[in-house]
Amino acid sequence: MQHTLSKFFATNLRPSNVNGCRTRIFDVLQQRCYSATQDADIVVIGSGPGGYVAAIKAAQMGMKTVCVEKDPTFGGTCLNVGCIPSKALLNNSHYYHMAHSDDFKSRGIIVSDVKMDVGKFMEAKANAVKALTGGIAMLFTKNKVKPIKGHGKITGKNQVTVLKEGGGQEVVNTKNILIATGSEVTPFPGIQIDEETIVSSTGALSLKQVPKRMVVIGAGVIGLELGSVWSRLGSQVTAVEFIGSIGGVGIDGEVSKTFQKVLAKQGLQFKLNTKVTGAEKSGGVIKVNVEDAKSPDKKEVLECEVLLVSIGRRPYTQNLGLEEMGIERDNRGRIPVNSHFQTVVPGIYAIGDCIHGPMLAHKAEDEGIICVEGINGGHVHIDYNCVPSVIYTHPEVGWVGKSEEDLKKEGVAYKVGKFPFLANSRAKTNNDSEGFCKVLSDKTTDRILGTHIIGPSAGELINEAVLAQEYGASAEDVARVCHAHPTCAEALREANMMAYLGKTINF
Ligand SMILES: Cc1cc2nc3c(=O)[nH]c(=O)nc-3n(C[C@H](O)[C@H](O)[C@H](O)COP(=O)(O)OP(=O)(O)OC[C@H]3O[C@@H](n4cnc5c(N)ncnc54)[C@H](O)[C@@H]3O)c2cc1C
Repeated sequence: MQHTLSKFFATNLRPSNVNGCRTRIFDVLQQRCYSATQDADIVVIGSGPGGYVAAIKAAQMGMKTVCVEKDPTFGGTCLNVGCIPSKALLNNSHYYHMAHSDDFKSRGIIVSDVKMDVGKFMEAKANAVKALTGGIAMLFTKNKVKPIKGHGKITGKNQVTVLKEGGGQEVVNTKNILIATGSEVTPFPGIQIDEETIVSSTGALSLKQVPKRMVVIGAGVIGLELGSVWSRLGSQVTAVEFIGSIGGVGIDGEVSKTFQKVLAKQGLQFKLNTKVTGAEKSGGVIKVNVEDAKSPDKKEVLECEVLLVSIGRRPYTQNLGLEEMGIERDNRGRIPVNSHFQTVVPGIYAIGDCIHGPMLAHKAEDEGIICVEGINGGHVHIDYNCVPSVIYTHPEVGWVGKSEEDLKKEGVAYKVGKFPFLANSRAKTNNDSEGFCKVLSDKTTDRILGTHIIGPSAGELINEAVLAQEYGASAEDVARVCHAHPTCAEALREANMMAYLGKTINF
């Protein structure tokens, strides 16, 4: 401190400096005084699943940690307008659908006059969000992470300036900066989102009433989840998709086809290989213009009360100071990082949706943890091939590793082990037996290369497959592990049995 102060006075109190001296001394001293209490080992910008987890990990590793968040609550897209609210609506709309359809009746449960209270339905979602976002504030206190509310901007290699909402700013000097600013909805050119009738996923999580008809642009994960919610509540949902399959990137072709059939049986309609060219509001109706992706002269107009634009997300890095720091973005707006998540500027790191890789909460979390461990001298390793994907519809879809299409493209010789839930005792007992488990293993070594599940609890079952794949297990390894009975996981075991032995016990 003594050394710093003498250096400061030497440069700032030179006679030639006298005129501007008072303000400058005050500014700099204020900054220094502030820094004495606020200087950080790491400033994390963004409190989504990537940022808040990284901040907690850093604090647990003994780093003086600050987490900057521009939104009123912590938790980012995931907790506020993503994973959590969508899963609350999916879970509760599934209950409603079961009670409202013949499903309950077939189980001997007679309920009459089943109604939907959309206000209460939304309140339950809001309560889940509130509890979890509030939980992060408590975790920050417990772990001694210093939160600062405001927009964080990198103003130097070792400095973040937080611009407060009501004006004013706070400057934090820091050894390291971790960018975890996430992503935002990708707009559809020419279609103006008002979040009332032309909505993004954010608006679709908060509709005030069930629309008679809904058109969803994009039959990817988010479009199908939210389309399912409103379809279960009574809306006639049509999903328009430019490519010829549903479920988004990485889904196995066979699973995608089965998935489409199952959702169609539930009432969702699909227009594949179809391009949306525009949409306009006319009275209380939205007219969506579409054309055949292969024969553009085949045109059609779809009408709906709510249009959901769900064509993906793009990295969010606005007003972050990247240009000033010489950090360029790639052609998709992502921040390039090396294997330690370090940008071109040493000491500045980036993780989560704003860098390469799948835009998933658990991927952002894992990157946050290993990035911080790396800064502290730890080993940094993530295998994106072992990051699972889940679609939380009913039935759920989950997968990890290579699809059959991937393996064919790569010229890898593989074996397929499949087992239907129809032959699984738990699924059968629960009268919830649509779908199958499919395991792809190396033809020569039997090593598991990919697992694809459509069926009950696929989102939970896939974690067993991730563990197996991460540890380099063979299909025989999983098949020889004792699984509790009766569970749906036994179907996964039998699919592995099929892959290594060519035979199953129960099918
Ligand atoms: C409807 C929907 C459903 C989804 N469901 C799932 C799911 O089931 N499972 C799953 O894995 N993923 C899901 N996702 C994706 C998931 O939400 C994201 O992958 C995840 O949130 C990314 O985490 P992140 O920390 O990188 O960024 P984000 O969660 O986007 O968080 C970034 C945070 O940074 C803040 N920020 C940005 N710039 C600044 C700045 N300059 N200063 C201060 N703060 C700033 C933002 O306000 C935000 O809070 C879903 C997404 C949506 C939209």
